[in-house]
Amino acid sequence: MMQTPLTMTQMITRAEKYFAKKHVVSRTSSGIHRFTYKEIAKRTRRLAHSLEKLGIKKGDRVGTLAWNHHRHLEAYFAIPCSGAVLHTINIRLSPQHIAFIIHHAEDQVLLIDADLIPLIENCQSQLSTVKAYIIMTDDDKLPETSLTPVYHYERLLEEASEEYEFCEDIDENDPAGMCYTSATTGNPKGVVYSHRGIVLHSMALGLADSTALSEKDIAMPVVPMFHVNAWGLPFAATWFGTTLVLPGPYFTPKILAQLIESERVTVTAGVPTIWLGLLKELEKKSYNMSSLRGILCGGAAAPKGMIKAFEKKHNIPFMHAYGMTETSPLAVISTLKSYQEEQSEEERFDLKAKQGILVPCLEMKVIGKNGEVQWNGIEMGELAIRGPWIASEYFKDECTNKAFRDGWLYTGDVVTVDEEGFLKIVDRTKDLIKSGGEWISSVDIENVLMAYETVFEAAVVAVPHEKWQERPVACVVLKDEFKGKVTKEELYEFLSPQFAKWWLPDDIIFMDEIPKTSVGKFLKRTLRDELQSYLQKN
Ligand code: ADP
Repeated sequence: MMQTPLTMTQMITRAEKYFAKKHVVSRTSSGIHRFTYKEIAKRTRRLAHSLEKLGIKKGDRVGTLAWNHHRHLEAYFAIPCSGAVLHTINIRLSPQHIAFIIHHAEDQVLLIDADLIPLIENCQSQLSTVKAYIIMTDDDKLPETSLTPVYHYERLLEEASEEYEFCEDIDENDPAGMCYTSATTGNPKGVVYSHRGIVLHSMALGLADSTALSEKDIAMPVVPMFHVNAWGLPFAATWFGTTLVLPGPYFTPKILAQLIESERVTVTAGVPTIWLGLLKELEKKSYNMSSLRGILCGGAAAPKGMIKAFEKKHNIPFMHAYGMTETSPLAVISTLKSYQEEQSEEERFDLKAKQGILVPCLEMKVIGKNGEVQWNGIEMGELAIRGPWIASEYFKDECTNKAFRDGWLYTGDVVTVDEEGFLKIVDRTKDLIKSGGEWISSVDIENVLMAYETVFEAAVVAVPHEKWQERPVACVVLKDEFKGKVTKEELYEFLSPQFAKWWLPDDIIFMDEIPKTSVGKFLKRTLRDELQSYLQKN
């Protein structure tokens, strides 16, 4: 067979040729804007030309600090298709982390949303590699800023050519993008995506038993474009000619519900906290959600109670998936097999609450205390993965040796696998509660708590214990209408029949809010510290 290179230029040029009339709907600070893929492709060519004029060369890193909108999509293609590397920067990281990763990636140019300028002004003195700042704004004028030299995105585009030819000298293994992990468990680590990896990962998003993304879809990635490339959806959607709805800055559950209703969104994607918020909104007010054929949810475990509420109350199918920055991210998805669809309702929801089976092209092994675990749904072990869109190292980072060994990525996630090959994430190695030499899954207890009707959110963490080394403590946020009306005893009564006695939390603490990471996951490190001082005081 022929060895033709799998590069991203073919993705954008396909949209330009075959889907010229299809739309990208973009919500920015000034409202809703509609572009055709033809317009997006022309603007992408102009941006690639502008970058070349600014001196960007093959392999240079170009950073973006931006929400989900059309300009960010243009950068998604212009940067890699000019031979450079798209470095999406997580705007919710701490200023120190932002400065660290820009410096570490050696970004040459930064594209910044106007409202995010202060993030960079605060650390400009540390950004010795950056040669130019490009501001993305709907305003004709540049905002006041101390950044220099600074350019207006639209002015640059006006001065560039829409006929610009994308770089032809790209090898499929060349770097196309990079993203740093969101530092849930330590310092951010850089992952570099190749053209080949992005093309093959996009292909996987289109498989019928995966997300089945297609031209007929109207896809709204809520997951930020600065977090694992919005799970690769903007790349795949452009390639397939899928209508894209980009929800822009500072969205609320209400804005999301309105966009789904008005744009007739068919597929949307985000972390569980987003969907818990949407569920709350749907309980307050009625919206027409009938266009939705699926909510893709990952990044943290989707509680069974939430999946059930979407599917049974609102008739919205749920797709639970697992992945990480290092895996592009799609690795595992819970599409039920034909014969599993015939099981009882409860069994089906149990399966959907698992993360699912490995997508084609990937391989896995699960290493327990005594080698590879049995596929019995009980034995736990660390998940290792390999495949064409799995990273093979961290960018200039000594953590590489720990996570990448003998051709495998060791995920740091502890899982079980059942007889059908369905994977269940038990916990992160660091979050597992080690009580008297046995393991307790914080995620399992959280999920049961969150299935209780008065509970909005629950996080379970380990606290040190003299005799047992660690014991679980549950932190619970009640739904607004139940605040002050629910006792610990009531929750224990609900939990007790569902767990062995030694799994029950030593304490249940009511909180107003659970601290979250930059991408909306429970920040267990902070929670553990907070609890420590709370328990010392009480
Ligand atoms: P960070 O490591 O900084 O949180 P990532 O977004 O790469 O950034 O997180 C990947 C991790 O998120 C996985 O290793 C896993 O622990 C968790 N995760 C992802 N999807 C799921 C899921 N569906 N269920 C449970 N945990 C998940």
